[in-house]
Amino acid sequence: MESTRTNKYPAHCDACDRYLPAGQGAWAHGNTYCGVRCEEDATRRAQERINAEVEARRQLQQTLIATAVTPETPQTAELMVKATNGRVTSLADLQDANAEDVNAVMIAVAKRDSANRTRAKREEAKRTNTCTRCGGAGRADKWERTGSICYKCNGSGKDHE
Ligand SMILES: [Zn+2]
Ligand SMILES: [Zn+2]
Repeated sequence: MESTRTNKYPAHCDACDRYLPAGQGAWAHGNTYCGVRCEEDATRRAQERINAEVEARRQLQQTLIATAVTPETPQTAELMVKATNGRVTSLADLQDANAEDVNAVMIAVAKRDSANRTRAKREEAKRTNTCTRCGGAGRADKWERTGSICYKCNGSGKDHE
């Protein structure tokens, strides 16, 4: 390992935080260390961090593949293509996709699911003739400050008067 110049200025070791007076540590690539042992420690920890990130990404991908985008429908494929500018066209592609594309697909899937839930809620409200704003309550004490009456249904709790 090509490290060692000594530190010109007092500093703390970047691996173990020990105070190093000027000239008593090793300075390498923008970091100050007690010596080779601490430099190796820091390198190992950096590698562990990278491994952890890679593992986290892999797990995210697995979760996504297992839940959010299955079953693979034409609509899901279309959504993935759109979210990644055509880089991901199938679940097989997604297995090998980079973190950015996986995130883009995650966000697109979440948006779609949220839109689906909103639509389902609206349709349910229409079906049961329930006001979408107050959920059928019409009036509530917690709305005291604005007059206690739902302004959308005017207190009826119904979708249409
Ligand atoms: Zn150290
Ligand atoms: Zn209402």
